[in-house]
Amino acid sequence: MKQYGIMFFVLALWCALLPAIGVSPSEAAAYTEVSNSEEMSAAESENSVPYLGDTELTVYFKESNTVKRLELEEYVALALSAVMAPDSPAEALKAQAIAIRTLALYAANEATHPDYDLCDNHLHCQPVAEKAEDAHYRAVADTAGEILTYGGKAAYTLSHLSSCLSTEPYGEELPYLAKAAVRDESFFECYRTEYSFDKDSFAAAFNGLGCVFTGDYESWIGDISFTEGSRVELIELGGSTVKGDVFAARLGLDSRCFTVSATSRGFTLVCYGSGSGYGMSRCSALLMAAEGMDCYEILEHFYPLTEISGC
Ligand SMILES: [Zn+2]
Repeated sequence: MKQYGIMFFVLALWCALLPAIGVSPSEAAAYTEVSNSEEMSAAESENSVPYLGDTELTVYFKESNTVKRLELEEYVALALSAVMAPDSPAEALKAQAIAIRTLALYAANEATHPDYDLCDNHLHCQPVAEKAEDAHYRAVADTAGEILTYGGKAAYTLSHLSSCLSTEPYGEELPYLAKAAVRDESFFECYRTEYSFDKDSFAAAFNGLGCVFTGDYESWIGDISFTEGSRVELIELGGSTVKGDVFAARLGLDSRCFTVSATSRGFTLVCYGSGSGYGMSRCSALLMAAEGMDCYEILEHFYPLTEISGC
């Protein structure tokens, strides 16, 4: 219990410092800080030479408008650094490293970029930090070359910061992105976010979607349907039907798991979780690692039907 008490305090502090988080599964950086003396002492040791694989990727960095060549394992470390703090539990870091490596190969194999393998856009590929810490490199080295496969190919190992109630099943085409239970993430401050909009700014957010906002604003929002994972699937809005993810993106919500209520000036929305809800929830992975689960048990929970393979 003592460990959870420490985690609560530190994680709540870090979550309070998080910037605004969008709706992509990888958009939110899981900047979490967990007390873990074993990890801290290991991070300070001399034995911190990063493992570098021999699979080279070309990665486009938007801000600098450059394409860099990165060894796969170096890429994984930098991408891991973008979404997890170095003092996260080691098994959670390792699980995320395998998920990142797998998704990188999946995306590279899809060849959606004509001139390079991957971009650093969190809405398309995966975010990539400029540097990584020893703990990131260690998680990469400890899982070197390991990926999750389904049908003999790299799986589409999406992940997200925080989940409401459960993860979201992706659909029949990707059965390993099934609905999975999550731990109680409600004590993470970043789990719950409240938004308020006056009625005019609310209406303006949906320009171009065919919504007609007239009359009593309390009648603008009609029926809401939900996904299997308890997220908003469709919402009747100003006489049109809007998808939950579009609604969330237009308002800049953290996820499409939300409630909405009318106020004296407009609307208040309370959003739960952060990200798409597909695949592994990093907040739950942190808790599962703190419980003593290893990275393979965590991955098996969030990506059932996949197998650990060498790439
Ligand atoms: Zn991309």
